[in-house]
Amino acid sequence: MRVLFSAPDWARWQPALEAACPEAQFVRDAPAESVDAIIYAPGSGIEDFTPYRNARLVQSLWAGVERIVSNPTLTQPLARMVDPGLAQGMTDYCTGWVMRAHLGMDNYAQDGIWRNGTVPPLAHARRVTVLGAGALGMAVARALKALGFDVATWSASGRGTEGIAAYPGNAIEDALRRAEILVTLLPDTPATRDMIDAHALSLLPEGATIINPGRGTLIVDEDLIAALDSGHLRHAVLDVFRVEPLPPAHPYWAHPAVTVTPHIASETRVETAAQVVAENLRRAMRGEKPLFLVDREKGY
Ligand code: NDP
Repeated sequence: MRVLFSAPDWARWQPALEAACPEAQFVRDAPAESVDAIIYAPGSGIEDFTPYRNARLVQSLWAGVERIVSNPTLTQPLARMVDPGLAQGMTDYCTGWVMRAHLGMDNYAQDGIWRNGTVPPLAHARRVTVLGAGALGMAVARALKALGFDVATWSASGRGTEGIAAYPGNAIEDALRRAEILVTLLPDTPATRDMIDAHALSLLPEGATIINPGRGTLIVDEDLIAALDSGHLRHAVLDVFRVEPLPPAHPYWAHPAVTVTPHIASETRVETAAQVVAENLRRAMRGEKPLFLVDREKGY
């Protein structure tokens, strides 16, 4: 099987892929019709998939596929990345920022003032909602639950797991109303764009914190800034933006209630992801359905 690697970091991926899938031949370039599968990341150069007519799989190295899913030339099966290492990184990021909000770590400026008026509640008294109950949202919800938080998830299907309340698509308002801390792990699709607008933000409890490592298109930036300015929201931690890198003049940079992180919440980890890619290549070779197949209609 000839596999075209069309993504950055070949030097890091090559040994891991060759070890995980020795039966495949990984190449950086090849006549299009000789390619059996493509490993892909955005910006790698392929815009037109038409010539790769024998490819049985396009394996994205990214979890988010918004930059490829609507490419009209892509008719081959598209699999997105679900990687234990990626999930662990996202769990670390989200639990860290949730803890910061929960414990009020920003309340204690080193300015000589003895602010002992409020002891943080225990985690079980803190309600956290995770929008998105997919590979990442569910991993984060489980980790928060294990730390003791009162966690709920919200997703189109309302799929859940033991011990974690699960709100279905039509119960978005209930999911938001309870969210003292809101973590958003939704994909960028036509249905999720601008979902968190002034109305959605108004449903969050007074003083809520929002943590968005999903996609920047979810949030109406002006509405979020207005909600922070009015004091209705306490803090926003944003990892993803409509334009990346976030332009230096963007109001988020200077806003005292916003923390900007530069799309580093997590990333695909070569060591664990190579195993996932290998499994999907084997499935493609056997003519089987790949794992984590993208639903073109839904866009994720
Ligand atoms: P999944 O596809 O596994 O999960 C997506 C979840 O969102 C599912 O629970 C799905 O519902 C839900 N969902 C999608 N559309 C809607 C909708 N319109 N209404 C309600 N629920 C909806 O994705 P992952 O968990 O793997 O990844 C989530 C996102 O995280 C990625 O798409 C990417 O944008 C982002 N990401 C960010 C990174 C970073 O470093 N900042 C790194 C990696 C990913 P259902 O279960 O019903 O299908």
